[in-house]
Amino acid sequence: MRRSNNWPLIIVEKIRTWADHVRVHFLGVRGSTPAPGIDFLRYGGHTSCVALVHDDDDAPSLILDAGTGIRRCTALLGGEAFHGTILLSHLHWDHLHGLPFFSGADREDARVELLIPDQQNDVAPEATLARGMSPPHFPISPQELRGTWTFSNAEPGTSMIERFEVTVLEVPHKGGRTFGYRVSDGHSSLTYMPDHCPTVLGPGPDGWGEYHRDALELARTTDVLVHDAFLVAEELAAEGFFGHAAAEYAVELARRSGAGRCVLFHHKPDRTDDALDAMLARFGETPRVTIATESLVLQL
Ligand SMILES: [Zn+2]
Ligand SMILES: [Zn+2]
Repeated sequence: MRRSNNWPLIIVEKIRTWADHVRVHFLGVRGSTPAPGIDFLRYGGHTSCVALVHDDDDAPSLILDAGTGIRRCTALLGGEAFHGTILLSHLHWDHLHGLPFFSGADREDARVELLIPDQQNDVAPEATLARGMSPPHFPISPQELRGTWTFSNAEPGTSMIERFEVTVLEVPHKGGRTFGYRVSDGHSSLTYMPDHCPTVLGPGPDGWGEYHRDALELARTTDVLVHDAFLVAEELAAEGFFGHAAAEYAVELARRSGAGRCVLFHHKPDRTDDALDAMLARFGETPRVTIATESLVLQL
């Protein structure tokens, strides 16, 4: 009796496991500024943006960061308005500048929830955004975007967003509170740490920064670790104060945390295609390392 009652449950679980997948579109992979020009064509020049699509959806419902790459998200919407959540890792220009140019979200039938890291300053999130996005810095303020927009603070913890379980932890960066995210659909997971400065916590065992608890927790056995690779190890001494990690740290964090794959992300804007090819050549086969490109689509 017990066995026959369990059969349908087991089958449903398996079907659910086989059927639930996520598509991850890398829409912008640069840090600091866009990088146009013939030396940057293969990896792409837009700043940070990653869009996630449930396999039973046609269009992305969760977007991580709103760098200039978010403009490319409109093409994924099939002519429809964006309905979903935009989750910002932090408020630096390269993660926000694309927002008012995301035409799929700036239309009357759009419905957008925008979440920013709580800056712990008693300023409403909409007002915080408006400090960088309002005249004279920009022609319109956030509330003038068309459609139905809500602006809220994200806090550390775990919650459901657009049918994804999202875990939020603060990571060290420079200038404003910065979050790392772990996103799971219950089948697979992606960890997103585009801007991370582990050297502020100390040199760590190899001089590339501390493998601190929160970074390890976000990345633990994740399928894909998308991580800041703005620098390479020999640049840390002169440029570490910009607030970024070396690619070597990202790969070692992936190895220590048991991540399935490390995607090196948030490339320095003057790192050419050839230089990014050379970066990949630094690493062995384990863990699997990928240099993020604007054409990268992962199926998890
Ligand atoms: Zn950045
Ligand atoms: Zn930043």
